[in-house]
Amino acid sequence: MISLSKELFLQIVKHCKEELPDEACGILAGKGSAVEKAYEMINADKSPENFIMDPAEQLKVMKELRNLGLEMVGIYHSHVASEAYPSSRDIELAFYPEARYCIVTLKDKNNPRIRAFRIKEGKISEEEISIK
Ligand SMILES: [Zn+2]
Repeated sequence: MISLSKELFLQIVKHCKEELPDEACGILAGKGSAVEKAYEMINADKSPENFIMDPAEQLKVMKELRNLGLEMVGIYHSHVASEAYPSSRDIELAFYPEARYCIVTLKDKNNPRIRAFRIKEGKISEEEISIK
């Protein structure tokens, strides 16, 4: 289970649309399952089919989270033309078994959807996502 406000969801969708035609990515910070803040990250891969966070930027955000007493609740990224489901590359590059991988699909740009997953040792399990 992961929960976020409607405002945060809209911020994430806006960021994903801004990065078109490439995938967008970011870090969801908060406590437990509640997201309090979304950090918009650089997609170092600049690709419509993949994302890689810039390691230096990621380190900076992780330090800030520690200072704020927040955790990395999840990681989000967009799929520009496919469903909100982890790709084989997403599974391969899922290094955080404790994080929720949130995927926003812009396949239908007027109706962006988000789904959350845990990816552990190559196994995908969907988690409920609550937007209020
Ligand atoms: Zn993906």
